[in-house]
Amino acid sequence: MQKKQIQPRTENSAKKRIAKKSDGQIEFKKLNNGCPEVSIVIPMFNEEENFHDLSTRLLKTMDADKRSYEVIFIDDGSTDKTPEMLRTLFKKRSDVVRVITFNGNYGQYVAILAGFEHVRGEVIVTLDADLQNLPEEIPDLLNKMEEGYDLVGGYRKKRHDNWFRTYASKTINYIRAKTTGIQMRDHGCMLRAYKRYIIDEVVKTRETSTFITALAQKFAGKAIDFPVTHEERRKGISKYNLYKLIRITFDLMTGFSLAPLQAFTMVGMTISAASLVYFFVEVFKKVVGHHHGFGLHFAFVFLLLSILILGVGLLGEYLGRTYFTVCNHPRFVIREILEKSIKEKEEKKS
Ligand code: UDP
Ligand code: MG
Repeated sequence: MQKKQIQPRTENSAKKRIAKKSDGQIEFKKLNNGCPEVSIVIPMFNEEENFHDLSTRLLKTMDADKRSYEVIFIDDGSTDKTPEMLRTLFKKRSDVVRVITFNGNYGQYVAILAGFEHVRGEVIVTLDADLQNLPEEIPDLLNKMEEGYDLVGGYRKKRHDNWFRTYASKTINYIRAKTTGIQMRDHGCMLRAYKRYIIDEVVKTRETSTFITALAQKFAGKAIDFPVTHEERRKGISKYNLYKLIRITFDLMTGFSLAPLQAFTMVGMTISAASLVYFFVEVFKKVVGHHHGFGLHFAFVFLLLSILILGVGLLGEYLGRTYFTVCNHPRFVIREILEKSIKEKEEKKS
């Protein structure tokens, strides 16, 4: 298929990309600078069983699509055959495939962030490797975007995860909506398409939390939820367990608002007031000579203690986030990048 004629990307292309309209809205210009129109970012962690189907179906779909594209696979420290498979695919399809290899496992969202830092396209699509979302639906998202949206967020029409994963995800979605006020239907669905400016903003934040989808939603001008198919994970196992899910919820709560701390202060104040009343009641009982057991006292002390410990934990979450930001530690370490530069691709074409 004939792809667009392209020129090397200039250093200020990021600046050129966005032009402010007089009414303050941001207008996007299609660039013709050697970069593909679409970048697809896929994190991979031990996905050897899904790799063949994924790459075949994805490349077939995108080769048939009218838009030029690239796929960036991020190998998140896989210990199976995924790295070799990626290498082989790169050798075959270096015209569209780029591979970033981490030196260890940093997590799905960190892998996606690394992909975001390297994208060349004007529209960025994220997709999981496990084929629970269909690569064949990417063109539908892109078509929707062409109707004038900055973000098309997939939501799973019917989920095919086990009940634990489904309800855990629903709860996290609910907490996110309540604590952050960010309106989106399903932040856990990774089949999403973004205009480049949103991704540039996400990269700038140097965020370490897991909530890229919610973060991106915050920066998006015109966003729409879009129904997508969700299938069962056919091969391999989900990389999420209860601990990871709890971590995500904390990241979510503390990454987007101070509401948990504020709520904690309110609870603390209410309990202090109640304790004071209780104290005076006890003093009064003692004065008038009533007998009383200690059970209630213990219960009360345990309640206070548990709230205190929860509060300390919550403070720790915020402190931890501040600590990592201040330390400026690298979020990931890349061992290798397999890619063709735009210049190399141009030379090959001519
Ligand atoms: N993944 C990753 N690093 C991890 C865990 C997962 O890159 O530490 C990738 C995984 O290969 C897949 C995507 O993130 O492409 C989603 O993972 P999974 O399907 O296990 O999550 P779930 O569908 O259960 O949310
Ligand atoms: Mg999955």
